Amino acid sequence: MATAPYASSLFLASSPISTAPRIRAGPCPPSAQPSLRLRPRPSPAAAAAVQAEHQPALTAAPKPPALPFRVGHGFDLHRLEPDLPLIIGGINIPHDRGCEAHSDGDVLLHCVVDAILGALGLPDIGQIFPDSDPRWKGADSSVFMREAVSFSSF
Ligand SMILES: [Zn+2]
Repeated sequence: MATAPYASSLFLASSPISTAPRIRAGPCPPSAQPSLRLRPRPSPAAAAAVQAEHQPALTAAPKPPALPFRVGHGFDLHRLEPDLPLIIGGINIPHDRGCEAHSDGDVLLHCVVDAILGALGLPDIGQIFPDSDPRWKGADSSVFMREAVSFSSF
């Protein structure tokens, strides 16, 4: 059995991204942390007082700064089959097997494209360039790379 080629990459883009949490929360003092010890339940009035005491800390949390870059991660894997070209990083590598794929099956470019799409917060390569679309049948994966880069604001 042949080992399937795979590739993984990280992509950094120099575009600011907000690190503001979607749900704002502030630190709670240790007394507000849940405990496994049994203790009597506070009355609704006491619970409301505790909630009110901590509410200003939740809304007063400073907004974190925006990062000057974005990070994406890509991973790709294809089965090796006989009599197919083995193309990795745009280079046709002489081999008795190649990657089975709708496109040229270039695992290196596919994972870099996925990393770019991930850094941009877009769906993965399979959703942007689906194998159900005849435009991508046998496509050179550099096409996906150019398209992915064009989605960014470089
Ligand atoms: Zn692929």
